[in-house]
Amino acid sequence: MSRPIAPLPDTLISQIAAGEVIERPASVLRELLDNALDAGAQAIEVRLDGGGIRRIVVTDDGAGIPRDQLALARQQHATSKIGSLTELESVTTLGFRGEALASIASVAQLTLTSRTATEPHAWQLAPGQTQPEPAAGALGTRIEVLQLFDEIPARRKFLRAEATEYAHCLDVIERMALAHPGVAIRVFHNDRAQRHWPATDLPGRLHDVLGADFMQQGVPIAAEQGLVALDGVITRPTFARNRADRQYLYVNGRHVRDRILSHAVRQAYADVLHGDRQPAWILFLTLDPNTVDVNVHPAKQEVRFRESGALHRFVVQSLSAALAGPGAAAGQAGEDAGNQRPDTAGLAVNPPPADPSVAHPPTPRPLAPGASERGATQPRATPAPWIRPPVQQPMALHEPTDPDGWQKLYRPLENTQATTAHEAATDLPLGMALGQLHGIYILAQNRDGLVVVDMHAAHERIVYESLKQKLDEAPLAAQELLVPVVIAVGEVAVALAQEYQATLQGLGLRLAAMGPGSLAVRAVPALLADGDIESLARGVLADLAQYGQSAHLTEQRNALLATMACHGAVRAHRRLTLEEMNALLRQMERTERAGQCNHGRPTWFHWSLGDLDKRFMRGQ
Ligand code: ADP
Ligand code: MG
Repeated sequence: MSRPIAPLPDTLISQIAAGEVIERPASVLRELLDNALDAGAQAIEVRLDGGGIRRIVVTDDGAGIPRDQLALARQQHATSKIGSLTELESVTTLGFRGEALASIASVAQLTLTSRTATEPHAWQLAPGQTQPEPAAGALGTRIEVLQLFDEIPARRKFLRAEATEYAHCLDVIERMALAHPGVAIRVFHNDRAQRHWPATDLPGRLHDVLGADFMQQGVPIAAEQGLVALDGVITRPTFARNRADRQYLYVNGRHVRDRILSHAVRQAYADVLHGDRQPAWILFLTLDPNTVDVNVHPAKQEVRFRESGALHRFVVQSLSAALAGPGAAAGQAGEDAGNQRPDTAGLAVNPPPADPSVAHPPTPRPLAPGASERGATQPRATPAPWIRPPVQQPMALHEPTDPDGWQKLYRPLENTQATTAHEAATDLPLGMALGQLHGIYILAQNRDGLVVVDMHAAHERIVYESLKQKLDEAPLAAQELLVPVVIAVGEVAVALAQEYQATLQGLGLRLAAMGPGSLAVRAVPALLADGDIESLARGVLADLAQYGQSAHLTEQRNALLATMACHGAVRAHRRLTLEEMNALLRQMERTERAGQCNHGRPTWFHWSLGDLDKRFMRGQ
């Protein structure tokens, strides 16, 4: 009993579309906020009742909708944002599909009230009406959505408790607020004021939304490569959390989730963060809109990059450099490291970002690229000024100048600097050693106070970095296998291995096709030749398939080096002379990532005289 083919009614079409776009109150809210931003709003007010299930009202002071277009705005596939395929390919607005309002109107009661600059009063289009009626209202648009899914019990069933839905709404608002610091935002829930973020610059907004802690533990990012720019703040490894809830990625001002870029961030942290610890970060990627496809997900939460492999590399490189630098040195225990931490544990080498020149620069930063910044279709020529690291820090990134090769590190702790004069301590970030505590810690005095160093952890990092550096300088030497290892990988992976042949060779890995679906591993990096070759090759291929490149071999190699470093590093309970201690401090100052041991724990701590004075209540 087949039914004749017939076009679906408009409402049903919208309801089907709503199935993809509108999942819960937060998705309605996201669409309304996108629209307000696209309209150039400078102030947005959000009112929610019952977690947004009963009522969502978004009021903006944007351009408004002319009276004769109100009914159109509510229609399927009606938009003012694009008109051609070319425009779609270079779209810079958050919306462009013209289906949000129609979808919402098909699953809830939607009232549109709007006034443009040329009209003496607002016009309102209520549910079911086709003609707008005069209404009170300031310049801008007010959209009210009542009783979400009231008439669609099947969808309503999936809604959670009001508090949960409200939390999701707040999450959406925060994500939007972070990318649009110049827009003032007020939030009410059940008529109670919940949030008020005045218009500010990006550091100010990050501070307001993410908190002072985040900023204090933040390492600014400002990188550029060709037409791509990466800005934002990543946090020190010691600030990592158990949940991945503080990771924000924006592409041209649009909040998105992206597997490839998230993986890149993860990889950049790989060397300083072990286990399932999750770093907190916020990153804004700005690139030519023509090189990113935003039309791959109905709710526009994902994008597709034309050159994802290159972007992946760019992100890894930019973040690794920042994490290797002095700004990432951890001088205080992480949030849940368990030990009590003086909140004043400022760092000599890390001026606390409370420093006004860092957190609140005099010149306001332009908005992150996005809707309210219409001109921003081109990436910035210069990176945002605020985000530059403050001043060149004393603990600079020198190449270790060790001429005798890395073996020297196994005769560790030579006196590389003969200075013992006390005054010299003033210029050394980690100061001069005073002595050893219980054979575990080195106590040192620097210009501002006391430095405590975990000597094993610190030395382990020094040895590890040095081993890595020596090996990085030479290409990975390949070792031919006497008996090739044949693995069944499937046809896709065989094709992949052929496509990436050059890349693989560069990694010291030689794979040859062996009949359909099988590969022979003929050569592997010499250093890894004793390991599990099959899983090595599979790991690399899996990375290539997913991310277009692989750091698998480097990771394996580094794991090996880390073990070597741990055994090569000076053991706790070994007596050191003052000269040896000072030599270690100097090596730390020259070593990248010396602020954390290989497991992401801090290697040193600093208490300023001021902190100590407070402890002893001096001068109070
Ligand atoms: P899209 O945003 O994809 O264009 P929507 O259904 O969200 O589709 O909105 C349809 C149209 O309604 C938009 O193109 C815009 O012209 C207009 N509009 C919606 N919300 C607003 C608003 N807050 N201010 C001004 N115009 C709006
Ligand atoms: Mg929209």
